[in-house]
Amino acid sequence: MDTVPTDEILHQLKRRCSILSGKPKRILLFGAPGCGKGTQSEWLNSELGLVHLSTGDILRSAIAQGSPVGVAAEKAIAEGKLIPDEVILTLVRKKFEEIGDAGFVLDGFPRTLNQAKGLDVILKDMRSEISCVLHLRVDDDTLIKRICGRRIHVPSGRAYHVDFKPPKVPDIDDITGERLVHRPDDNEESFVTRLNNYKKITQPVIDHYLSTGLLFQIDGSQSPDQVRKDIELLFQLGNVPEKGRSSV
Ligand code: AMP
Repeated sequence: MDTVPTDEILHQLKRRCSILSGKPKRILLFGAPGCGKGTQSEWLNSELGLVHLSTGDILRSAIAQGSPVGVAAEKAIAEGKLIPDEVILTLVRKKFEEIGDAGFVLDGFPRTLNQAKGLDVILKDMRSEISCVLHLRVDDDTLIKRICGRRIHVPSGRAYHVDFKPPKVPDIDDITGERLVHRPDDNEESFVTRLNNYKKITQPVIDHYLSTGLLFQIDGSQSPDQVRKDIELLFQLGNVPEKGRSSV
């Protein structure tokens, strides 16, 4: 039987997820590699104007540009290993200084408890705070299928899949006409390392946010459209008027 959310539950949701109209949304997006964080970030960026801050994209751009950070990180990334917290926190602080008080979606950060503490310090310095934490949950078999067929456009971070979301022309980005790449860490061996890191090191970060009451679990194994709808619904519930809605 379908259940109808009561006013009380809607009020709780509103308290937990302070995504109020007029306020910038500041979202943390969690999920194992291949869960669809990048895909959901695309519409959060294009439709809601949130700055998409992906530490993976920042590192891949650094590699493409041959910068010292990129050169130092390239081998570890290809092997699926994590980059040291200090390096990541320095990159993230710089980005936050660039974006000022704009709304944002953080994708792939924080990945360790130490990074989560560092994020708290950065946000405090910026007089900012997180409004919502989303966790896209996907089973391991689905993740590996998505990862091995993934192709990306490095400058924008746009992701495609050879079967599930092919570009109009094979290996070419639909928007810019530039070449897509198969990430060197999108192979089975590196995926196992990345997934293990996720379970051992990042899951405790998610548990930490569970205790803040800001965390929402979303079924990320659904189609990207359905995941998007779930997130939009969550935002609408977060926008419920002060006096609550009548049950329908
Ligand atoms: P992603 O694009 O988020 O899957 O990240 C790709 C790779 O970049 C990861 O497997 C790590 O090697 C590195 N990386 C990205 N974000 C972080 C982070 N927050 N902490 C440590 N390493 C990271």
